[in-house]
Amino acid sequence: MRKGVASYEPVNVAMPLAKKLQESIRENGRLPDGVELRKIVGEVGGEEICMGRGVSAFRAGEVVGVILPGRDRITVELIPAEGGIGEALEVVAYQDHDLGAFIVEIVPASDIEYEGNIGLEPVIIDAESLELRSTPVLGSFEEEREGAFLVIDRKTHGRWKESGKLDVCPICGGKLIWEGEKAYCRDCGYGIRVVKE
Ligand SMILES: [Zn+2]
Repeated sequence: MRKGVASYEPVNVAMPLAKKLQESIRENGRLPDGVELRKIVGEVGGEEICMGRGVSAFRAGEVVGVILPGRDRITVELIPAEGGIGEALEVVAYQDHDLGAFIVEIVPASDIEYEGNIGLEPVIIDAESLELRSTPVLGSFEEEREGAFLVIDRKTHGRWKESGKLDVCPICGGKLIWEGEKAYCRDCGYGIRVVKE
């Protein structure tokens, strides 16, 4: 785990991973291949623990990730290293031909077992223009004195603001309280901070 990066819970890896997948798809107009996916996993702090031709696994902080290959679909299972399958998340990326879009979603790995609240908006990328059709609020987590923060860039903040949902926590759907460039969620305990550029 890189210094200052918080990867204690699956969501800490899921959100930066979904953001990197979004960027890769918008740049290349397709899903990342195996080599690109390994690079992305490394960028979100993942260290390979088992690389096979089939299933491969990595560890990022307190989270274990398992990449399940598929022909037109990328599935990454994120499981707490300490157990607790009820908190496991799945990041899924695929092309929806009916919608004419690429989708990147963060969903509970098990709907029945999941204990948290998941308020994450899916990434929907127009397959033709590669423009975003949704307003996902994704970023990376950083540990600060006041706790763990989801750090988002100005572009993401701008889109989020336009959507009129600035008071809704992008992590859990709870109510956010803003203080300047920082927001706090009482429900999930995470803070949100807009990066200074
Ligand atoms: Zn929250």
